[in-house]
Amino acid sequence: MPRYDVAVIGGGPAGIMAAITAARHKKNVILIEKKGCLGRKVLITGNGRCNITNNASIERFIRVFGKQGNFLKPSFFSFFNNDMIEFFEQKGLRLKTEDNGCIFPITDNASSIIKILKIYLLENKVDVNYNARTVKIDIKKNKFSLILENNTCIYSERIIMATGGISYKKTGSSGDGFKMLKKLNHTIQLLKPALVPLIVKEKFAKDLKGLTLQGVKVVYHKDRKKIKSELGDILFTHFGVSGPLVLDLSRDIVFCLQFQKKLEIFIDLKPEYKIEELEKILITEFNIKGALKLKNILKQFLSNRLVETILSLSAIHPNRKGNQTSNEERRTVLRLIKGLPLTVIGSLPIENAMVTDGGVSIDEINSKTLESKIVPGLYFAGEIIDGCGPCGGFNLQQAFSTGYLAGKNAGLG
Ligand SMILES: Cc1cc2nc3c(=O)[nH]c(=O)nc-3n(C[C@H](O)[C@H](O)[C@H](O)COP(=O)(O)OP(=O)(O)OC[C@H]3O[C@@H](n4cnc5c(N)ncnc54)[C@H](O)[C@@H]3O)c2cc1C
Repeated sequence: MPRYDVAVIGGGPAGIMAAITAARHKKNVILIEKKGCLGRKVLITGNGRCNITNNASIERFIRVFGKQGNFLKPSFFSFFNNDMIEFFEQKGLRLKTEDNGCIFPITDNASSIIKILKIYLLENKVDVNYNARTVKIDIKKNKFSLILENNTCIYSERIIMATGGISYKKTGSSGDGFKMLKKLNHTIQLLKPALVPLIVKEKFAKDLKGLTLQGVKVVYHKDRKKIKSELGDILFTHFGVSGPLVLDLSRDIVFCLQFQKKLEIFIDLKPEYKIEELEKILITEFNIKGALKLKNILKQFLSNRLVETILSLSAIHPNRKGNQTSNEERRTVLRLIKGLPLTVIGSLPIENAMVTDGGVSIDEINSKTLESKIVPGLYFAGEIIDGCGPCGGFNLQQAFSTGYLAGKNAGLG
């Protein structure tokens, strides 16, 4: 019967990092992965480029993780973005920081990240068991027996659960960990999609499919009250809207949609101008270039497709001349530029979410060691833990940081 000091269940970034770190403490470690390869989800991150972390400060990391932020403090202090850079550079893979603070491998290829992780696993003599789905955890006298789908059994002194969330199931994260942990009396907070595209009611949004808007502001309202506004990039799709800004706001919007059927958002297409400033500019332009068609005047400010949409929503004929436009019509155009309205009626299912919100309750995990407060010798790492961060490399840093801390403590124990 194979016996190990530490068994790590799940070969994603969190599990791989946990296995490497535990093994560096001279422990006999096995990494158990149900798929035939490691890190399948990592390969699709950042559109295949892997936005592995962000150059934000620790304070910002803690802030953006919201309710989970304080819990993650010891993890981030143990292994942070600078440690990540050093970790990969030690094996010859340089990371680069882009203007928005997002950090990627210099190769722009996620497989280079996996390649380095595999070198570390080999160097630290971690046994990797592929095509090995863990289906049951038995505990006797504080020692663990892991039962695999093929009925083999692995014994271990300590285990680290790193089976991820429940989105993009083809990558392997299908929620097995949550089922096993419920049987060990752990509380699983409601699993919800986070960082997920939104479905909108308006047909014009679908007609704009493929259009990306950079540096716009999205404001969202609940019960006619402004709740939040943020700047960023959005993408129109065949069902509604996506892109980094929408994905980030989706965490809150999905939460609100639990209690109401729809939610209004407004896209400020020209956030750099106050409404009064833009009104003055439009008045001047409509006067000076009064002989031009409205659609040609507006093309100075907006893309062709948006001009068509705005004129159609204002019910103004696109060939109307600037000097034939009434004050009321100009104000309608202005209102639409400063707040193109969309009605969010849902989100894509959790399968299409980049991250799962919810998971093992942080009240039941010691934040300093990531050991369970219910089952001694059981540790957690990665997305399996309740909460999630925004786009920008924050979630992979969470996976590596918690993987490091869990691996270190399981390795020391
Ligand atoms: C399309 C997409 C793009 C993304 N882009 C980014 C990005 O650019 N930057 C960023 O920070 N984050 C990104 N994320 C999020 C990021 O991928 C996750 O936060 C991260 O992968 C979580 O790591 P993890 O190790 O906890 O879980 P996972 O990566 O999900 O790994 C879990 C592993 O456990 C294995 N497993 C599950 N059950 C069992 C079992 N019963 N027995 C054995 N093994 C099991 C799975 O096969 C899997 O390999 C993206 C996610 C998606 C879907």
